[in-house]
Amino acid sequence: MAIDLEQTLKDLVALPSVNPMHGEPGPECLESRVTDYLQATFEGLGLPWARQEVAPGRDNFFARLDGDPGRVLLLEAHQDTVPVDGMTIPPFEPTVRDGRLYGRGACDVKGGMASMIGAMAQLKEAPPDGMPTIVFAGSVNEEHGFDGAAAFDAYWKHTDLVPRKPDLAIVAEPTALNVVVAHKGQVRWRAHTSGVAVHSAQPERGVNAIYRMSRVIRSIERWANEVAPTLGEDPMCGRTTLSVGTIAGGIGVNVVPAHCVIEIDVRVLPGDDPEAVRRHVIEHVADDPDVPFDVDHDDPFLIGLPLAARGNEVLARRLVEAIREETGSGEAIAVPFGTDAAQFAADGIPSVVFGPGSIEQAHTKDEWIEVRQLAIARDALCKAVVGLRG
Ligand SMILES: [Zn+2]
Repeated sequence: MAIDLEQTLKDLVALPSVNPMHGEPGPECLESRVTDYLQATFEGLGLPWARQEVAPGRDNFFARLDGDPGRVLLLEAHQDTVPVDGMTIPPFEPTVRDGRLYGRGACDVKGGMASMIGAMAQLKEAPPDGMPTIVFAGSVNEEHGFDGAAAFDAYWKHTDLVPRKPDLAIVAEPTALNVVVAHKGQVRWRAHTSGVAVHSAQPERGVNAIYRMSRVIRSIERWANEVAPTLGEDPMCGRTTLSVGTIAGGIGVNVVPAHCVIEIDVRVLPGDDPEAVRRHVIEHVADDPDVPFDVDHDDPFLIGLPLAARGNEVLARRLVEAIREETGSGEAIAVPFGTDAAQFAADGIPSVVFGPGSIEQAHTKDEWIEVRQLAIARDALCKAVVGLRG
């Protein structure tokens, strides 16, 4: 069965798989429509497949193409997309204009997924000598927590479909046909200050939680500006950064506020433990004489591991060579966003990130991908697997 890449991408975009990152899932949410499509597609290709339930309505998907059983390559793409609020195009009605296919997920990352499906089909049709066994995987919940990919590890140990833990992994994300070998990690959490609510006509009798939070924020800002730059520098990813992204507090202007909460986002370097960097921030605030009161820090609501450019050099070189044969350009780069690749790397699987489309068009109000890049990515994947050694 030949795979029409443009049609496959249209099919995928027309199947909503929005990540319910903002709370209660709406009808456009969760990945099951895409999972069913993957199942039908790989069944049509005559390849064995399996599903792994991660949460209700949210299954990781796996399919296998047999090659050299002594070497297993994972091709992975996430099934979810970001929400569609504020989009200026119909998110689930894929349209092609001027060589671009528009729709939610076209770029991030249903385009990359289509290229991987196309590669699986092509390699099944004409398996090259020395092809490894290839496992395609579609993960759930990449856009808000990475727990689909985190569940893979349990899967390798308890499945007949995948002979063993993969030796290498290529993760689809829009990298503009470059090969991402490193990225930062991240940790996000909420911090709270408490006060004593009284009538605003007598503020001296209360304790203002917003005033307290303003001191916490200044302390955190000092950490960001003065401490973070001393924590080292990565040649590809730069320095550790911190941003306070939201603040909420108070119930009305005539009440001294009893509570204030902020959300903090820290981006950590390859090799750093996000939780250790978070503790560093918390201790800095606790030791700050300008913050002589308790600050409550919740556990993180999101941790993304960093990806280090170590151990993945051979895979990266092979893929860069393959893409250069196709286009004459393409290089090994670092990016500022997190990916599932870090989960696999932490599990000891050398991993890189590669795909059609640019991150500039991901998550946007008129998300699109250049259609011609789909076939280029597919062909580069097919070339890269030949003679792949870990
Ligand atoms: Zn993505």
